[in-house]
Amino acid sequence: MSIDKAKERAKAAVTEARETLVEVSADIHSHPELALRETRAANLLSDTLEAQGFAVERGVYGIETAFRGVWGEGPVTVAYLLEYDALPGIGHACGHNLIATAGLGGAIGLKGAVSPADVRVVVLGTPAEEDIGGKQLLLDKGAFDGVDAALMVHPAPVEIADPLMFGFYSCYVTYHGREAHASVAPETALNALDGLVTAYQAVAQLRQHIRRDARLAGVILEGGEASNVIPATAKGKFEVRALHPQYLEDLKDRIEGCFRAGAEASGTKVEIEWTSFAYEPMNNNPTLVSLYKANAEALGRRFLDGVAASTGSTDMGNVSWKVPSIHPTFQVGAFALNHTAGFTEVCITDAAHDNMIQVGQALAMTGVDIALGESVADQARDEFAATSR
Ligand SMILES: [Zn+2]
Ligand SMILES: [Zn+2]
Repeated sequence: MSIDKAKERAKAAVTEARETLVEVSADIHSHPELALRETRAANLLSDTLEAQGFAVERGVYGIETAFRGVWGEGPVTVAYLLEYDALPGIGHACGHNLIATAGLGGAIGLKGAVSPADVRVVVLGTPAEEDIGGKQLLLDKGAFDGVDAALMVHPAPVEIADPLMFGFYSCYVTYHGREAHASVAPETALNALDGLVTAYQAVAQLRQHIRRDARLAGVILEGGEASNVIPATAKGKFEVRALHPQYLEDLKDRIEGCFRAGAEASGTKVEIEWTSFAYEPMNNNPTLVSLYKANAEALGRRFLDGVAASTGSTDMGNVSWKVPSIHPTFQVGAFALNHTAGFTEVCITDAAHDNMIQVGQALAMTGVDIALGESVADQARDEFAATSR
């Protein structure tokens, strides 16, 4: 079968599934669930996959709201990644309802386009993107072993085929001092809050002198309870982001220096606890990016040229250092910024769903390229090997 014909079938299969995909997206959007509690969404997506002829396992890799659907037994494995967690207070302000159904559409389209001997289509339900980096939990359990290409898309204000995403670390910092009456015996105190404030100021100064493709931020979580008691404990949370992996490590060292400076100045002790998960910078696979871009452009989509250095972080970054991956962004028909209530509103409009269907088609067509294109998977793998660290 020619690739072009298969792509026509892929598009038609997504169009045919439109009503189902929109219904699923609307259901997820109107029942926002937080990280690791996405029971309704995971069940709905699993049911839909089963109805579409995929063999589905629920609660895989030790996570109740993760799932895995499989169809076909071909030599190349294409994985579509579905996110479906929401944000506290503002619902689906990152549009993960559209990620889930665009990926579902991609899988349905690819299944409808090729024979089961051509490809193995894997659909991975990946919980908890917004909070604990659920894809890292899946990576730890081997969920991506044997995958040749991992594909997903993300709604955003701008359309970028290979968006940069920051690598990310966060940590809790606790200062331990000695409390004292603030008036009777201040000279006997070791002021934990002073330690934290000095560290915060040092971080704020450092922030002015770091590369533009990096970010530092922090908040004070705990700084005493009464002004007449010098606090013995103070606690903060800080984060470090950078596009360049080595610079991220360098910044991690430098911010630790700021924390130690606070302890040194105040005579307190500091405890630095880096959280167990980190987001890695996105390693976009050039072969897969150019195929996706060509397919999306053939459908009439237009991409922003150039580099947008203002960006966020994603656990897809972690996947992208394990297998060849893409994470293109797509517009939803109205301008709003992710993680605002305005974005929640635009992610449920007809225009958002039109865009979701179209990028679902582009994902399906890209799957066709990987399944049927001569040595596409090999080329992506070779490139991946060259960029791996
Ligand atoms: Zn998101
Ligand atoms: Zn988000």
